[in-house]
This record gives sequence, C-alpha cells and structure tokens, in this order.
Amino acid sequence: MAKHIFVTGGVSSSLGKGLTASGLGMLLRARGLRVVMQKLDPYLNVDPGTMNPFEHGEVFVTDDGAETDLDLGHYERFTDEALTSDSNATAGSIYSAIITKERKGEFLGRTVQVIPHVTDEIKHRITRLGADDVDVVITEVGGTVGDIEILPFLYAIRQFRSDLGRQNVCYIHLTLVPFLGNSGEQKTKPTQHSVEELRSRGIMPDAIVCRSSSPLSPGIKRKIALTCDVPPRGVVSAIDVDNIYEIPLVLHAEGLDDFVCELLGLDAGEPPGIQAWSKMIERASGASETVRIGLIGKYVNLPDAYLSVVEALRHAGFHHRVRIETVWVQAEEVTGLLAGEMLADMDGIVIPGGFGERGIEGKIAAATYTRENAIPCLGLCLGLQVMVIDVARSLAGMKGANSAEFDPNTPFPVIDLMDEQRRVVDYGGTMRLGAQAAILREGTQVAAAYGELLVRERHRHRFEVNPRFRHRLEKAGLVASGTSADDRLVEFVELPGHPFWVGTQAHPEFKSRPQRPHPLFRELVGAALANKAARQGGQVAAEER
Ligand code: GLN
Repeated sequence: MAKHIFVTGGVSSSLGKGLTASGLGMLLRARGLRVVMQKLDPYLNVDPGTMNPFEHGEVFVTDDGAETDLDLGHYERFTDEALTSDSNATAGSIYSAIITKERKGEFLGRTVQVIPHVTDEIKHRITRLGADDVDVVITEVGGTVGDIEILPFLYAIRQFRSDLGRQNVCYIHLTLVPFLGNSGEQKTKPTQHSVEELRSRGIMPDAIVCRSSSPLSPGIKRKIALTCDVPPRGVVSAIDVDNIYEIPLVLHAEGLDDFVCELLGLDAGEPPGIQAWSKMIERASGASETVRIGLIGKYVNLPDAYLSVVEALRHAGFHHRVRIETVWVQAEEVTGLLAGEMLADMDGIVIPGGFGERGIEGKIAAATYTRENAIPCLGLCLGLQVMVIDVARSLAGMKGANSAEFDPNTPFPVIDLMDEQRRVVDYGGTMRLGAQAAILREGTQVAAAYGELLVRERHRHRFEVNPRFRHRLEKAGLVASGTSADDRLVEFVELPGHPFWVGTQAHPEFKSRPQRPHPLFRELVGAALANKAARQGGQVAAEER
C-alpha cells in the first residue's frame, strides 16, 4: 500500500508549497522510492486551461493531454516522473463529477452533500494515485488554511489518518516566520495561529516547514515545537535560496526526508541520487559567463506565465555552465526598425506560445530580425506560427500572410484552424492536447539535436501550418524538419544556413529536466553562446582596427 504525505500551507499564499513538496519528492525519489505527486486546487474552474496566465500563471500540459496547474511542472522537474491528468483535481472537477452522477441517478433517493459525497470524491482522487508500484503519494493542497473553499479538502485528508492508520499518513504544514526589523526578531505567532487553524479542523501536523529569510535559531525552533506540539526534529528551517533546485538540499540538511521516512516506516538509506544533484547545483553556481536570452512575450516580468520556458532555459544553462539572463521583451513594442534596437544585444531569442492578436506583429518582427541577422531563435507553438508568417511575407512573396486566428480575411492564411477544431464549441479541454508523435527529417538541425527520428512532444493548440501553402513555403527555403506521422501537420521548421532558427508546434519546455535539458533548448543556448563569442570577437577586431 502506498504511503501518503499531505502538504498544506498557512499564513500567506505563494510561500512555495509546490516547491517544498517537489523538494521532498526529489529526496524520496533519490532513495529509490517511486513517488507520485498531486495537486488539489480548491477553485471552481474544472481545470486552469481557460484561465488567463496573468491570473494563474502557465498552464502545464501532461502527456495524456490534461491542462493543469503549473506546480505539476515543478513536480515533474524534481521527481522526473511523467504525471497524468489524475495528478490535478480542482473543486470544479470534483463537483462536476458528482453532479454528473447525480443527474444519472446514481444517488437516487439520497441527499447529495459535501460530507460525505464531496469528501469521498476527494478521497477517491487521492487513493487512485496509489497504484501497486507507487511507494509514496505526495498531495499538495492548494490555497491556505482558513480559506472558505479549502474546508472539504482538509476534512478529506484528515480522514486518511483514521482510514489508513498513523504509520501510513503524514502531514506537513508550510508557514512563514517573518523577521521583524524593529524588534530584530523572528516571529513565531503567525505559525502558531496557522497550526491552530489546522488543528481546529482535526489535522495535527507532523512537521512544520518554516520559510524565512535567515535560518531559524535553535530557540525559535524549540518554541515552535512546544507551541505547535511537534517534535523538535519536525521543525524545519527552509531559508530563501537563489536557485530553486537547492531546495531539496536545504530540506535534506534539515533532516526532513529522514524524519518523514522514519514516521512512515520507509527504508531510510542515504539518498545516493543527491550527490549528482549537488554537483548540478555546484556547476550552476560556478557559472561565470552570462548568456542573454530575450523572451518576446505578452506577459513581461511575469515568469510564472512562462514558467516551464524559463526553467528549460536554466536547465540548458546548467548544461553549458552559463548563467541565463532572461530579458523580458514586451511583444507589442517590437516594431519595424525598433526591433533591431531592442534585440541588438540579445545572444538568443525565444518566441513562446500564446493566444490572441495582441503583440503578434511584434513577434513576427522579432522572427524577421533574428532570421536576417543570424541570431539564434527558438519558436514555441505560436512561435513557430509567427516564424512561418515571416517566411511567407518576406521570402515567399505572400503579402499580408497571417494566421486565420488573427486575420480571418487574410489573402494567405498560412496558419489555419485544424480541421478537427472546426466542430469544437466548448472552450475547455478541446484543443489538440498532450503528447503527439512526430517524424523528423534526416539530416536536419532538429534531427541532429534530438539524435533520433521519432519524437513525442506535448501540444496545446488549435491552429496549424496550412497544408495548402506548405509547398510554397518550402520552395522559399523553409524546411519542414518534422511532421506528424501522416505527414499532414508540420511539427518542426528550420532554415538551412542559419545558425539556429527553429520552430516547433509543440511545447518542448514541458519535458526539460534540470539534469536532462531539452535538446532544442540546449542547442539554442549553445548557439547563443557561439553568437556571443563571435560578436565579442568582432568587437575586439573592430577596436583593434
Ligand atoms: N494560438 C495558437 C493556436 O491555438 C498557438 C497556441 C500556443 O502557442 N499554445 O494554435
């Protein structure tokens, strides 16, 4: 039977519950345990797929095509376990399942209530993750204790301890220990109140992870242990770190994984995988050179909106031993001649995914500029689409070419709605989603990067390269370096002779891992590094002249 760990949060939102849970997941996985992670979200949307990235951050897509919370990205990156739609349950999806059953008559004669029907459905979502070969299920409860919507979730997870027994269930609560400048002290009161709130729902935490700007003093730890009724080893000091991948090391140094293994009776050998992980962090912090990558987006300075892209770039940075400076470029501001000025000192460019017309012309201008000036550029989903529009307009003589998404009356809809999308009415969960196979063309840059010809990447889109124009685009020099197995959909494009100008209809960022950067990001950063060296060489030469 799988053991269950529940992670809740108090005092404040955005304390990093997802990262704490992921850090613990990484440590348990490093001990050879099979760990599956899950997020319970108390909001009423059925999934985050229809939410604005401004509101909710990136939508993370799983292999099986679920549109999920961005914390699942952290889970996958830290535990290296590909998750499924089962790993994200929102209150909306839970209520929707219950109401569907009610309409079918499955509760005939009975009143349907939060307890037991909603709590049972929540418990069902949690237990179904504990398949035979899973050792540990880590469930993160979104929101903060004290929220109205979180109650059914707290009731459900509380029942687990009596259902499964003490030795099979463990509760970890994350809080904030602020440092008050005027008194020069760390303050435990918010933690005490938060634990009090949790206990009023019947949950006694086994461990309290305290976020703080500096390490908790032994005195403060003792005070929290006493007032919150946890053993001293259960009070964990989680100081702020520069690099999120250091979090497992911080938790390990505080003994959290040992403590949890002991509580749950898990084989508590030293985690061998942690050495390789530490090496990766050392490499990263030893990097002295910086590579500047411009991210042409709609939501600038909002890393959460492009979280997996930012992380994938960092992974590539770890590989090349360089620091990545992500420069946020507001797409709407990249126009015409200005494009050159704004992008001139970037070593490489990423044009990420997106929806809607805002900023499109700026993204196309960025594609044109990088193509004409041999600047490495990686286009992701919408990024591929704008690269294709650029080639159509600039090289294939199709004036006014566009995507039908932005200009339904364009004379050259080089990007058009996929046939399968024409009948779609609902917005939620209806795009072309999840892992799709693509065949790469031998001898292309993309095939060389992957080192194989059959690849599977995750998708989330409604539009595609219009097959009607493919021949004209190819004649103009664009190479379709990867297509769907039936050769109908263009999945990768590139431009021969350019150091790196590659677009993909997929979202490869979702599959990048800190110890295994995604090949396209790895190549982009490699090319950006070469571009930087060449430009610096050029500058030196010019100064010498
Ligand atoms: N809006 C485009 C489409 O639906 C691109 C989507 C994306 O970038 N994820 O095809």
